[in-house]
Amino acid sequence: MSDQAQDTPEEEEEQLAPFMIEPARSNRSKCKTCRRKIDKDTLRIGIMIEGPFGAGYLWHHLNCAAKRNFPAVEEAYSEKCWDDSVKVPPLEELKKLEEQATKKKSEKIDPPYAQVAPSGRAKCKHCDETIEKGSVRIVLGREVEFYRQVRVALINVHPKCVAAELLAEDCGTESEGFADALRNNTKNVSTELVDAALAEIGSLA
Ligand SMILES: [Zn+2]
Ligand SMILES: [Zn+2]
Repeated sequence: MSDQAQDTPEEEEEQLAPFMIEPARSNRSKCKTCRRKIDKDTLRIGIMIEGPFGAGYLWHHLNCAAKRNFPAVEEAYSEKCWDDSVKVPPLEELKKLEEQATKKKSEKIDPPYAQVAPSGRAKCKHCDETIEKGSVRIVLGREVEFYRQVRVALINVHPKCVAAELLAEDCGTESEGFADALRNNTKNVSTELVDAALAEIGSLA
């Protein structure tokens, strides 16, 4: 009567490979790395996950995966997780993307950080007054909407304006752990100057 527990070969065939590289079949999937849409026919890589409703693929642009999760791409290549009809770029090309991305990341400084104002032209984005040349300014993040995406723009403020700016709704920098973050992220400014700036910033609690 019951036909449960069918351990037939058919069922085994339905098991998903851990990875799948293919041209996107539509433009409805979204890249889980960059969150942008994956255009139809653009190469994407599915990384299998086991969810409460069974296994499925989370899709990423192949290039995005190469930059952020190269070991997964490497594994997919070693197991040739694509159909014969699919043309994939050489792995070395993807490796280069990863190297470039890593290099870029190491060069980028995240806010908050302190900087000595190189000129007297910049104005404090909080009080709108000039930041004196040679004085320490604090670089914070501010969330701005850009083509309906929220990005973090860098803004310069006086140390004395930091506390108030951190309370702004669009501030992209957190008060919590601010002093440590500032110390860690700051390059090319002496510890004394950073400490003086922190003293001026005052308590953020
Ligand atoms: Zn992407
Ligand atoms: Zn100011």
